[in-house]
Amino acid sequence: MSFDLPEHHQQLRERARAVADSVRDQAGEADAATDVHPGMRDALRASGLAALTVPAAHGGESEKVDSLAVTVVREAFGGVSAHLDSLFAMQGIGSYALAVGAAERIQAEWLPRVVSLDAIAALGLTEPEVGSDLKAITTTVVEKDGELVLSGRKSFITNAGAAHFYSVLAKEDDGFSLVFVPADTPGVRVESGPDLIAPHIIGEVHFDDVRVPLDSRVGLPGQAFPMVLQTLATFRVSVAGSAVGLAQAALDEAVRHTTGREQFGSTLARLGPMPQMLGTCWMEIEQARLLTYAAASRAAADPMGALHWSSMAKVAATETAGRVVDRCVQMMGRFGVVTGSTIERLYRNARPMRIYEGGNEVLLGQLAKTLTRPAR
Ligand SMILES: Cc1cc2nc3c(=O)[nH]c(=O)nc-3n(C[C@H](O)[C@H](O)[C@H](O)COP(=O)(O)OP(=O)(O)OC[C@H]3O[C@@H](n4cnc5c(N)ncnc54)[C@H](O)[C@@H]3O)c2cc1C
Repeated sequence: MSFDLPEHHQQLRERARAVADSVRDQAGEADAATDVHPGMRDALRASGLAALTVPAAHGGESEKVDSLAVTVVREAFGGVSAHLDSLFAMQGIGSYALAVGAAERIQAEWLPRVVSLDAIAALGLTEPEVGSDLKAITTTVVEKDGELVLSGRKSFITNAGAAHFYSVLAKEDDGFSLVFVPADTPGVRVESGPDLIAPHIIGEVHFDDVRVPLDSRVGLPGQAFPMVLQTLATFRVSVAGSAVGLAQAALDEAVRHTTGREQFGSTLARLGPMPQMLGTCWMEIEQARLLTYAAASRAAADPMGALHWSSMAKVAATETAGRVVDRCVQMMGRFGVVTGSTIERLYRNARPMRIYEGGNEVLLGQLAKTLTRPAR
C-alpha cells in the first residue's frame, strides 16, 4: 500500500508550484483584488491547468474531472494566493453541472472557454436569507411563452460581476432546477461587495424576470440537487487541498522567522513552548495532508460514494489551517500582525474556508447522520 501521490499527480503538483512561484510577487496585490487580477489570469491561462476542471469531452484534460488532480493543484495555489486558488477552483465549481447536464449547444459554446479562461464561471446557490439550508431558497424559475423566467437574488456569489455566466439554483414548482444564465442577459444585475476580511471577487446577483431559452435548464426540471451534490462531491475535497497548502505556507514562514531571530541568547525556535508549537503544526499538517489525499483519491474514483470522506477532509484541513496559522502568527510576535505581511494575509485567508463549501458544523452534522443511520 502506498501513501504517496501517483507519479502523474506529483508532476501536476510540481507544475502548479511552478505557476504559483511565478506569480508569488503579485500575490499580495491579487489577494487584495475584488476583480480578476490580470497577472493571475494570464499565468493560469498559460499553464493550461484550468483544463483539469472540465471533462475531456468538452476540452478538458481527463475523461472526468479528477478530484485528486484539482486538490493537489489547489494545495500549491492555496499556499501562495487565495485569488489564484479561487480563480482556478471556480472554473470547475461553476461549470461542473453544465458538463453533466447542460444542452449540447451550451456545452459546446461555453466549456472550452472555461478551459481557456475566456469565460469566467460562477455558481449561485446562496441567498440573502438562505445559506446552509438551501431548500429554503426563494429564487424561482417558471416556464412562460416557451422560455424560462428566473426571478430572485443570489448573495455572496464568487466571481459576481467578473463571471461570464451563472449556474443558478431556483425553485421550480415543488422541486429545484439549475438554470444557465449568461451574465449579459437582460435583467441580470450585480452589486459588488461586501468587502471581506479576506478580499474576494464577491457580490449579490439580482435576476429580475430574466428570460432565457427553455434549454437553459441544466438537467431535468426539479432535479437540480443531485447535480449540485455531484459538484460538491467532486470539488469539496479540493478546499482541503487549499487549506493544507495554506497551513504549510504559514509554517514555512514561522520556521523562517523562529530560526532567524534570537531572544534570550537563543533562537526563538528553541525557546519555551516554541518547539512544541512547531512540532504540533507539522504533525497536524501532515495528518491533514494524508487525509486529504486519501479522500481525494476516493473522490476521484467515486465522488458521491466518497462524499463523507471529502467532508471529513474539508473539516479536518480547514480547522487545521485555522489552528496552524494562528499559532504561526503567535510565534512571529509583532511581526505576525503587520498588515501586508505574508503571514497576516494567510491568517485572513484561512478564516472563510471553515464557512464556505459546507459550513464545518453542517458537515459534521451530516457525518453524524451517516454514522448513526440504522443499517438497512
Ligand atoms: C468567501 C466566500 C465565497 C462564497 N462563494 C459562494 C458562491 O460562489 N456561491 C454561493 O452560492 N455561495 C457562496 N458563498 C456562501 C456560502 O456558501 C455560505 O456562506 C455557506 O453556505 C454558509 O451559509 P451562511 O453563511 O448563510 O451561514 P448559515 O447557514 O447562517 O450558518 C451559520 C453558522 O451556523 C452553522 N450551521 C448552519 N446550519 C447548521 C446545522 N444544521 N447544524 C449545525 N450548524 C449549522 C454553520 O456551520 C455556520 O457556522 C460564499 C461564502 C464566502 C464566505
